[in-house]
Amino acid sequence: MSPLPCVPSAQSGKQARGLHVITWGCQMNVYDSARMTDVLRPLGYRAVDAPDDADMIILNTCHIRDRAAEKVFSELGRLRLVKEARAQAGHGTVLAVAGCVAQAEGREILARAPYVDIVLGPQTYHRLPEMVARAARAAGAVIETDFPVEQKFDFLPPEREVPAGGAAFLTIQEGCDKFCSFCVVPYTRGAEASRPVAAVLEEARRLVAHGVKEITLLGQNVNAYHGEGPDGAIWGLARLMAELADGIGVERIRYTTSHPRDMDGDLIAAHGDQPALMPFLHLPVQSGSDRVLAAMNRGHTAQEYRDLVMRLRAARPDLALSSDFIVGHPGETEDDFEQTMQLIRDVGFAQAYSFKYSPRPGTPASGAGGQVPEEVKDARLQKLQALLREQQDAFNAATVGQRVSVLFTGRGRKPGQVSGKSPYLQAVHVDGPDSLIGQVAEVDIVKLYTNSLGGVLTGETGKA
Ligand code: SAM
Ligand code: SF4
Repeated sequence: MSPLPCVPSAQSGKQARGLHVITWGCQMNVYDSARMTDVLRPLGYRAVDAPDDADMIILNTCHIRDRAAEKVFSELGRLRLVKEARAQAGHGTVLAVAGCVAQAEGREILARAPYVDIVLGPQTYHRLPEMVARAARAAGAVIETDFPVEQKFDFLPPEREVPAGGAAFLTIQEGCDKFCSFCVVPYTRGAEASRPVAAVLEEARRLVAHGVKEITLLGQNVNAYHGEGPDGAIWGLARLMAELADGIGVERIRYTTSHPRDMDGDLIAAHGDQPALMPFLHLPVQSGSDRVLAAMNRGHTAQEYRDLVMRLRAARPDLALSSDFIVGHPGETEDDFEQTMQLIRDVGFAQAYSFKYSPRPGTPASGAGGQVPEEVKDARLQKLQALLREQQDAFNAATVGQRVSVLFTGRGRKPGQVSGKSPYLQAVHVDGPDSLIGQVAEVDIVKLYTNSLGGVLTGETGKA
């Protein structure tokens, strides 16, 4: 092993060390990367932009689709060169692989990339300081891919770095017990667990105290949230959001990702009753064919999804919907695919994510008969994406001429521009001062771009 940097003690934590985190995958990984940075801060680690300046590099990986492991090995090859160049200059580098690929392929990573010092699964990152110390002492690499008995959230530092721009993620639920035929999450993230209400409220309170206006609540199945409340009762997501808005003062709330099966009456009603809840919902359906939905083990039919959408729109008529679609699940016929297209036409989506089915090792669908040829998946995906694109463009075009509240989260691409998000999660750019960043302001939408909107400030403070 090349030299590792000496590990500063918690007391001598002022010694600055560079930390570079590379994040792939979903928002939960973005949240996890930020929390890994928080965990390492007492050891003196501070985020740096370039891996060449980093005493520690963490590659936080995603295993959900397409050649995840190959991507990791190719990136590790690049990071090995960085590590070697730093070693030649007399600097040690701790190289860690985190996230779902680490969980699923930990031993393989160490066998194929022995220059990796630490492999850690998503449930163990609260133990990073101890792992860094062990890596510094040990002759071999450290691997931590258990699902520890202790809840990692109980061991994370209460203080977290608050992102600039007034918007933050907050993980409230992790793991999944639904075992959809195609999905690795139950194997990489473990069983479903919800954080206690008090812990969520405390984290939210700190974020709000630091100027955060919008919190996106995260979970693999966030609407399955069932946290223990301070009153000893189990709180669902609707009750939690009501407390976040009315008790803590969170101005804007979003949640993702939801499963149609867990959309209960309280949650549907919250879309009509709770003004802080933004009128945008990501509700994955995957397919419009009952046959495929059953093969996927999704636990609902296409009609049940349509009915759910109707109830949601009855509660909040301007609700913008987003979804996930998979084309080419084993056994999917042309007719099944056409039913998915029909569901899209019937529902109408403001945006969506769509993927070719990708066999994930160890999942039931990967060994199933009726695998769909790649060229068929390609053709279906193109057709489906063209329809979704049409719907997205139409939705955005309909916003032109409207006045919307925008939370400005950062500078725009052009000088003098700031950018943010509309309530419907559309990107909006206006000419305006940097002082708007982190603030909500009213904007008249005047222009449609390919993936965003252009607006003019009205001079009014936004209504969140
Ligand atoms: N829990 C959410 C749900 O039930 O819809 C989804 C979470 S999953 C991390 C995100 C999305 O990745 C899924 O909705 C699905 O569309 C896609 N996905 C997961 N496994 C996949 C696979 N093997 N091939 C293609 N897409 C996949
Ligand atoms: Fe994966 Fe979502 Fe299905 Fe769970 S519910 S197995 S996270 S797709």
